[in-house]
Amino acid sequence: MVYYEGRVFRPPSEAYSLIVQVTIGCSHNKCTFCDMYKEKRFRVRPIEEVKADFDEARRMYKQIDRIFLADGDALMCRPEHMAEILRYIREVIPECERVTSYGSPASILCKKQEDLDELHRLGLEMIYLGVESGSDEVLRRVNKGETADEIVRAGLMVKEAGMKLSVTAIAGLGGDELSEEHAVKTAEVLSRMKPHYIGLLTLLFEQETPLMRDWQEGRFHLLSPMEIAAETLTLLEHIDCEGSVFRANHASNYVNLAGTLNRDREAMIARLRQALDGKIKFRSEAFRAR
Ligand code: SF4
Repeated sequence: MVYYEGRVFRPPSEAYSLIVQVTIGCSHNKCTFCDMYKEKRFRVRPIEEVKADFDEARRMYKQIDRIFLADGDALMCRPEHMAEILRYIREVIPECERVTSYGSPASILCKKQEDLDELHRLGLEMIYLGVESGSDEVLRRVNKGETADEIVRAGLMVKEAGMKLSVTAIAGLGGDELSEEHAVKTAEVLSRMKPHYIGLLTLLFEQETPLMRDWQEGRFHLLSPMEIAAETLTLLEHIDCEGSVFRANHASNYVNLAGTLNRDREAMIARLRQALDGKIKFRSEAFRAR
């Protein structure tokens, strides 16, 4: 069995990938809406442990097409460390077609462009980057630890290296007070980065987080399905991301949307208007999940 410490998270598109932990936890671990790595203290795993996981996976599986490097920001390890892991994957699992990883803006910005270029040359194909919001005020309130400009710079470095960029934003993260700003500024940041893939999730509380406590104690307003639809409509009205694949069809979303921008923007806006007019049902709370 490949070794996993604690709960392991992966993007939905990595459901059939071999997952190997290069790091444990998240180096930031302070976002007020996130409970993913709270029980873990961040560390980079020794290279021999990571290699042993790949050896074990090789013994277990004849064919491994995709590999996802976890945890929260696996890219936080030194570039030489990641390069050695990528070389080892090529040696031990030569048939692998795609290696991907989460990457926080900080883990990208602390590298030189040529480091990222080299990691792409060695097989790192795609980075999943959490944008969450394009509003500096929302980012500050949720303690993201990054500004919108830093997030854009990190995203552009990933694209410059030739890697695919997949980002997520979270509808409702600004509450009612910052909903409009959150929508407009997130559209602006996405338009500046033009990621290959955009995933829009909707804020949902499952396990206790500081933001959930704010909500329970009346300091934060969790948007209703109607308010989320209106916010998403504003975001789509302001976005200009020619060629980006846009998806809001995650289990957390109230209304499923999927299309390629800018081509399908009007169709997705029309679907949201139908939801606001009561012609499309919102996903029931009982069926929502992260
Ligand atoms: S950077 Fe990502 S994984 Fe880390 S605390 Fe924030 S949302 Fe969670």
